[in-house]
Amino acid sequence: MRLTVLGAGPAYTDRQGASGACYLVSEGATHVLLDLGQGSFTRIFPHVTPLDLAAVVVSHLHPDHFIDLVPMRHYLRYEFHPPRRMRVMGPAALAERLDALHAEPGFTAEALDTEPLDETPRRIGALRLEARLVVHTEESYAVRVSGAGGPGLVYSGDCGRADDLAPLIRPGDVLLSEVSFGPGPVTANVLHLDGPAVGRVASAAGAGRVLLTHLLMGRDPDATLASVRASYDGPVELVWPGTRLELFLAQGGGGDPGSIQPSGR
Ligand SMILES: [Zn+2]
Ligand SMILES: [Zn+2]
Repeated sequence: MRLTVLGAGPAYTDRQGASGACYLVSEGATHVLLDLGQGSFTRIFPHVTPLDLAAVVVSHLHPDHFIDLVPMRHYLRYEFHPPRRMRVMGPAALAERLDALHAEPGFTAEALDTEPLDETPRRIGALRLEARLVVHTEESYAVRVSGAGGPGLVYSGDCGRADDLAPLIRPGDVLLSEVSFGPGPVTANVLHLDGPAVGRVASAAGAGRVLLTHLLMGRDPDATLASVRASYDGPVELVWPGTRLELFLAQGGGGDPGSIQPSGR
């Protein structure tokens, strides 16, 4: 399974080149996007064409996680004759929210086949998808994607309580977690995570590797890494747009930690 980070940003930042959350997961010929936040649509093209995507999975309805479904919809609607379509899974209100942006009922349905996400496991090509509700918005999910029975990738989405991730994480899984508040602490009543919380859940659940993302503006990357390492012994890295990782050997074997190719922060 390969992970390509297309966007790793939070809702806003001064970090040059940052864009909204968007992670391309590939297993064989199956390609799935986890989230499609602001500015990330164009970043799909160097890796796959959007038509090669089996689905887009949206964790929750904050714009830094779903708003580039608008250019995706336009691309499918206007670039092809006849227009093409895309399978999109997400919170139940997804289509209504996109329609409202254009004050146009049916705007979404012209190109996107939306499907409510829930906690029922489902298949997307060669990948298995599990989702679990987490505390953040009214309907926010963390997801686990895996190949045929092997270890998986657990993506936190945005999450206000690290323990919500534990039921998804199996020993040896890679945890791709938001770490909005860096070394911490999280501001009172704000539903995001910090490094100490991520380290604790990764350690308790037996994650094989931790990838950190969604770092807020002004938070120090090195202090963030140290705050996770204080309670987690395995490999920990921050990921950025352009990071490509071979997470697992094909057919679910191994647990090869792969190699990281850092790019501009
Ligand atoms: Zn976010
Ligand atoms: Zn959010």
